[in-house]
Amino acid sequence: MIVAVDFDGTIAVDGFPDISAAREVPDSIAALKYLQEAGHTVVLWTCREDHPDDDDPRQYLSDALHWLSERGVDLEYANALPAEEEFRTFGRRTKVYADVYVDDRNIGGFPGWHQVCAYVDAASAVAEDGHIERESDPTEEPPAVPDEYGRELVRRYSDKDDALSVTEMWAMSNWLLARLKILEKGAN
Ligand SMILES: [Mg+2]
Repeated sequence: MIVAVDFDGTIAVDGFPDISAAREVPDSIAALKYLQEAGHTVVLWTCREDHPDDDDPRQYLSDALHWLSERGVDLEYANALPAEEEFRTFGRRTKVYADVYVDDRNIGGFPGWHQVCAYVDAASAVAEDGHIERESDPTEEPPAVPDEYGRELVRRYSDKDDALSVTEMWAMSNWLLARLKILEKGAN
């Protein structure tokens, strides 16, 4: 999946305009590495930009990319569409296309990096090819949820202290429905 991630307030705080004062938002670096290792394309999605004059010290976008790189996170795309998605634009696109957007200015506030990783895990578990279905065919079966993951969600659902996200609920419902169909077939 393509995961678009804001920088200031989401990955780091107190880093603008002076990046040397930046502090990591708890678990942001570990989470970005986790998402990349899981095969997702992380795109930096930020208001930061570099001053067009290379000699000008206000190279705010490069500052953020260097800060990340120093911590072992190298991002291929910043405020840009991943190459595999270029066919979707007429060359004037300003919004970065993504399957998921991660930002501290979300409605409801930033949920924290553990929740972000759980959400992306769940969303990609129900997608067959690494992308969330954009144009779903109502006659098609929903993507299969792996048994082990379905059981894990039910276990967590039963444990009242561990709330499931909306996507996880959706994955669990799909898994339960599939189980029900198997049982019905067996009964007939
Ligand atoms: Mg922000």
